[in-house]
Amino acid sequence: MAADDTPTRSSSSEPGNAPRARTSVGAASGGDSPFRSFKPYEPADDEPYMGPAQLEHFRDILLKWRHQLMEEVDRTVNHMQDEAANFPDPADRATQEEEFSIELKTRDRERKLIKKIADTLERIDQEDYGYCDTCGVEIGLRRLEARPTASQCVDCKALAELREKQLHA
Ligand SMILES: [Zn+2]
Repeated sequence: MAADDTPTRSSSSEPGNAPRARTSVGAASGGDSPFRSFKPYEPADDEPYMGPAQLEHFRDILLKWRHQLMEEVDRTVNHMQDEAANFPDPADRATQEEEFSIELKTRDRERKLIKKIADTLERIDQEDYGYCDTCGVEIGLRRLEARPTASQCVDCKALAELREKQLHA
């Protein structure tokens, strides 16, 4: 009756398989990658580019992205307020100041992005969205899903970046 045969499967031989500590940098992730949990838009064959449904799709992405960014900004502010408590050790303070300046830069970047998202949402409202500012071609659904605030097609963007680089070379 006391069949004491423990299934071999559950007796893992690996000692202390502690879950690997997550490298949680969190908010400091690249500001370029927007909110990603949406379904790629599949337009119907006869669907016009940037018709109401598509505009709605991108409005939704932008709103969610902005919401996410605002939460990150809040978190940064709260974090800094919490941490701003007394640090009597000057070494700790130096580290903390450095950390703060990084966080402030992140916040600044997020703020600019939030502004850009607001501008983009305005363009959606005016149905002036999805076309290259420079040459007028359709920017395309996939590119816009990767970069919802894009206002230039890939080619014009690449050219602009090249010029920028030459300017600062
Ligand atoms: Zn273009």
